[in-house]
Amino acid sequence: RKFLKEYNERKRLSNELIEMKGNIRVFCRCRPLNAGEILNGSAASVLNFEASSDYELQVVASDSTKKQFKFDHVFKPEDNQEAVFAQTKPVIASVLDGFNVCIFAYGQTGTGKTFTMEGTPEQRGVNYRTLEELFRIAEERHGVMKYELCVSMLEVYNEKIRDLLVENSSQTKKLEVKQSAEGTQEVPGLVEAPVYGTEDVWELLKTGNRVRSVGSTSANELSSRSHCLLRVTVVGENLVNGDRTRSRLWLVDLAGSERVGKTEVEGERLKESQFINKSLSALGDVISALASKSAHIPYRNSKLTHILQSSLGGDCKTLMFVQVSPSETDLGETLCSLNFASRVRGVESGPARKQV
Ligand code: ADP
Repeated sequence: RKFLKEYNERKRLSNELIEMKGNIRVFCRCRPLNAGEILNGSAASVLNFEASSDYELQVVASDSTKKQFKFDHVFKPEDNQEAVFAQTKPVIASVLDGFNVCIFAYGQTGTGKTFTMEGTPEQRGVNYRTLEELFRIAEERHGVMKYELCVSMLEVYNEKIRDLLVENSSQTKKLEVKQSAEGTQEVPGLVEAPVYGTEDVWELLKTGNRVRSVGSTSANELSSRSHCLLRVTVVGENLVNGDRTRSRLWLVDLAGSERVGKTEVEGERLKESQFINKSLSALGDVISALASKSAHIPYRNSKLTHILQSSLGGDCKTLMFVQVSPSETDLGETLCSLNFASRVRGVESGPARKQV
């Protein structure tokens, strides 16, 4: 009974929060200068953290003009993985309460998207910590709620879906997004692996990364040109009142958002960058349409948004990390990313935000 009371209270607060603030959050994270940049004298960062706060970021252009950006949180170069997860955590419990959640990392290649989502074995990122948190809460609710968790991992490259949990490429089936009988968007045939603890998840992530790198000259190069999606499906059963929930959590490491110089791009590379542009702007359009409570949400404009259709909008929660570099040489891309993120957050046009 105590649990039910807490559960209902959390649900009420959560709904209230959605009403008040909309359900889209944008976090900005700046990586530290790397050794090369320090050697090259980029130490005079274009991001002025003195004039920034936990919610504001000041960018100083070469002609000294300043631009201020507002986010739901700004992580500075010295903020570690724990600090990032502490802000991310509140959205995680809602997956076990039956809400769909999407977490994205957006930004130029080399700004720390993979570091934030995946991290390293020593500095684990959002993916691992999220699963750990899901298992922790599930354990805490043991006896009251019963949960089953399944993990899928897929890649979208040039508008094609690839199952990253299928090791043998000769078994690869053509994957498409289809509407289920319940009206949700599904990818029939995608492997769904049951997981019982973080060790299982870690093993699956290793498999996924191995499959992802097959056929590419450099894993890093390919990974910057494709979107990598980790999907967790949670089926919950309330043992007190018999209620059942089914929810989805998506953890997405997006392709690099950098514009490629017109002269250096041709053939395969041109096609790739067009697909990336198309899908990232489609994602931006969908999220900003949701933020401004637009009547039409253009999910069908890219494979990425189509796959995520059932987990974006409605009472689903969206969190986007916009990753930036502190280096002066990246200023152009940094401004592009920050402008994109501001548009996504709907600050200019989002009535949902104005009530904050
Ligand atoms: P992306 O996925 O955006 O291409 P990566 O995650 O591969 O970028 O990051 C590029 C490099 O910067 C990696 O070596 C990564 O470990 C390092 N890095 C990124 N963000 C941070 C951070 N916040 N702290 C320490 N190192 C970072």
